[in-house]
Amino acid sequence: MLQGVNLSLVKAHNEAVVINLIRRRAPISRYELAELSGLTPPTISVIVNRLVLEGILVESGSAPSRGGSLGGRRRRYLALLPDSRLAIGILVNRTGCVGAVVNIAGSVQTIVNQPFGTYLAELSAQQLIAGLDRMLRGLLEHTSHVKPHVMGIGLGVPTWYPPDIDWQMVVNYLGQYGLSLSFANNAVSAALGEWWYGVGEVALPALYVFFGGGIGGCLITRGGPVAMPEFRPVELGHLGIASGGPPCYCGGQGCLENFIGHADEHHGVTKQHNTMQYVGYALRSLCHLLNIQTVILGGPEVTIVGEDLDELNMQLSGLRRIDPIGLCFGRISPENLALGAAALVFQTNLTRHLDSAVPEYH
Ligand SMILES: [Zn+2]
Repeated sequence: MLQGVNLSLVKAHNEAVVINLIRRRAPISRYELAELSGLTPPTISVIVNRLVLEGILVESGSAPSRGGSLGGRRRRYLALLPDSRLAIGILVNRTGCVGAVVNIAGSVQTIVNQPFGTYLAELSAQQLIAGLDRMLRGLLEHTSHVKPHVMGIGLGVPTWYPPDIDWQMVVNYLGQYGLSLSFANNAVSAALGEWWYGVGEVALPALYVFFGGGIGGCLITRGGPVAMPEFRPVELGHLGIASGGPPCYCGGQGCLENFIGHADEHHGVTKQHNTMQYVGYALRSLCHLLNIQTVILGGPEVTIVGEDLDELNMQLSGLRRIDPIGLCFGRISPENLALGAAALVFQTNLTRHLDSAVPEYH
C-alpha cells in the first residue's frame, strides 16, 4: 500500500508554523513568535537557530526589549530568505496535471500545464509517466542553476478510487530524479497550500472542501491539515444524504455526489439544479460532527459554486445561533493549486523529526 506523508503529528508542524508566522509578520522577534505560536521560548530558539544555520532565516535589525532600554538584551528581528529553498509541486487532476516551481515564500517561479487530452482514468501508468516526464524535464531545466536549493518533488493525486493507475510505478519513476518525494491526496495537498499560502489565520477547526473529480475535503486544526490514514481525504462526496437513491460507484447509495449530477469517478463534478443545497445539507452534518468554525471552498472545479454561494451561506449561517460558521473561498486559484503540492515538500523536509521525508511503501 502506498502511503503519503503523515501530516497529523502536531510536532511536525512547528517549523511550518514558525516559518509562516515570519513570512506573514516579518520583521518579528523570537519573543513575538513564542507569543503568537503558543510554542515555548526554548522550542522557538531551537527551531529558529537551526533555520538560521541552514540559511532559511536571517536576523535583520533589532529593537529594544520590552523592558525598555535598561531592561536587558535587544530583540533581534527575523526574516525569511524567499529563494533559499525551492520545491516542485505537481497536482494530478482528472484531465491533466499542473506543475510549478515555488520558493519557500510561496512565489511561483514557473508553472506548466500538461493536459492529458483524455481523462486520467483512461491513461495507463506509462502514459501518465510520459506526461509527467515532459513536464518535470521542463521544470528541472528551469531550476538547473539553483539545483542545491530544490528540496524535492511534491505530488497531489486523486485517491481512494484510483483509476487503473499503478501509483507505485509512478513513484518508482519519480525516484529516478534523486529528489525527495512527498505524496498526498490532492484535497489534502490543496488544504496544505491554503494553510501555508492562502487564507492563513481563520477560526479553527476549519473544513477545506475540494471540488475536483469528486468532492473531497480536509480537516484543518491548530496543528494544520490532518491527513487521514493511507492519505485519504474526508470523502465529502460520499456522505449519505438520503436513504436509498441510485447506487453510487463507491458501493453505497444516497451519496451526495449522486445528487449533484456526478455519477462516476471519471468525469468530475457537474452542476445541476440545487447542487449547493445538497452540498450545504451534507456540510451541516459534518460541521456539527466536528464543530467546524470555518468552511473554505477550493479545488479545480470550485467555480461550480459560483452564484450559489449565498445558498450555501444561508444553510451554514442558520446552523448555529451562537458562534456562526464562517464561509469563504480559498485564496489559491484553481490554476495555482500546485502550490499545495510544493507546500507538501517544505512541510515534510523541514520537519526532520519525522522518521522520513520520503513516503514509505509496504
Ligand atoms: Zn458513494
